[in-house]
Amino acid sequence: MVNGVHYLRMLQEAEEEGEKAAALVFSQARGVEAEHAELYKKALNHLIAQRGTQYYVCTVCGHIADGILPEKCPICGAPGSKFESVQ
Ligand SMILES: [Zn+2]
Repeated sequence: MVNGVHYLRMLQEAEEEGEKAAALVFSQARGVEAEHAELYKKALNHLIAQRGTQYYVCTVCGHIADGILPEKCPICGAPGSKFESVQ
C-alpha cells in the first residue's frame, strides 16, 4: 500500500541512511502514481534543502553527482574541474 505515511517513513529512513538511501528511495518513487510522486518530490526537496545537500553537475554532459565531487565524470570522462556545484 503506497500512501503519504509510507513516503514519510521512507523519507525518515533516507535521512538516517544518507545519500545512497535517498537516491534509492527516489528511484523507487518513479514507479508510483504521478500524484504521489509529485508529493514525494516536494517532500524530498524539502529534506534536501534542510540538509543542505550539495550536487555537482557535469557541464559537459549534464550528469549529476550528489554529495561528492567526482574525480572525473563517469559518463563522459570530463575532469572534476568541469563540474559545477549546485545547492
Ligand atoms: Zn559528463
